[in-house]
Amino acid sequence: RAKDEGGGVHCPYEPQLHAKAEERQRLEQALREALEKDQLHLLYQPVVDATSGVITGFEALARWTHPELGPIPPSKFVPVAEEARLIGPIGEWVLRTACREAMRWPAHIRVAVNVSAEQLHQSNFISAVINALAQSGLDARRLELEVTESVFMHEDDGALRVLDQLQAMGIQLSLDDFGTGYSSLGYLSRTRFNTIKIDRSFVVGAAHNTPENLAIIRAVVTLAESLGMSTTAEGVETATELDMVRRLGCKKVQGYYYGRPMLPQDAARLFPDPPAQACAVG
Ligand code: C2E
Ligand code: MG
Ligand code: MG
Ligand code: MG
Repeated sequence: RAKDEGGGVHCPYEPQLHAKAEERQRLEQALREALEKDQLHLLYQPVVDATSGVITGFEALARWTHPELGPIPPSKFVPVAEEARLIGPIGEWVLRTACREAMRWPAHIRVAVNVSAEQLHQSNFISAVINALAQSGLDARRLELEVTESVFMHEDDGALRVLDQLQAMGIQLSLDDFGTGYSSLGYLSRTRFNTIKIDRSFVVGAAHNTPENLAIIRAVVTLAESLGMSTTAEGVETATELDMVRRLGCKKVQGYYYGRPMLPQDAARLFPDPPAQACAVG
């Protein structure tokens, strides 16, 4: 269709662009099918208290295994879903599934769900959250929603109001991948995130003692604390990195050091005493 609209203008890179557009369209179609045919699933990565090493929750991470193409990472299919307006239904599926699976854990364990900026701009997002909570029976205080700074790219109050409403319901809000986006710190004073998640790119540097990265982590922790927010260090892989972010004051950590994203049954097995609901079901 792009060709029709272009009115026959020739571009030397057209064949490649065309191939790219076709691949995207194939992925889009395959993703639509994946949603219908149950080819998506969630893995859960532990989030751990930095001081005690105790699990406080899990982050749900979407996975897609295509019958022929094999596993396709979220870095590839989430952008496709966003562009194809599939992120709404996929996001609803993620919310429903994560809330349901979290019911197998003890009542103090939270579940974090990633939310795209596009989802916050959809009129039915709040009702999708309410439905996921109602269907699963999960307490709203056990649900955490992670958004990235891209939510604030368009200076629009709509997204802020949605976040406020979610928070009023008792849901926790986290600012994901902090430090990698288009940072205007102004919005931090307008939405009270519960947690800032410090992007892995700063954590990696911390182990090598890069003074700049140490300074950034320290500054983010100070900023978060003075605004009444907690901090989570993302992508902690080694004991050195753990020690570093702990000493810099990060409250929680997440990363391969404590656990890779795991199957729901493996996450549930980490708790010797299953919650009453799980017993009743069998
Ligand atoms: P994210 O929310 O920042 O998630 C953390 C990513 O870092 C995950 O990648 C996780 O597997 C990876 N990770 C965790 N610990 C370590 C570590 O120690 N080292 C390294 N190198 N990586 C680590 P994943 O699962 O590939 O997800 C990538 C991104 O895709 C996520 O980044 C999130 O932005 C997005 N995503 C995943 N699931 C969903 C979803 O259900 N909805 C939406 N909208 N986005 C999702
Ligand atoms: Mg996240
Ligand atoms: Mg992140
Ligand atoms: Mg990230």
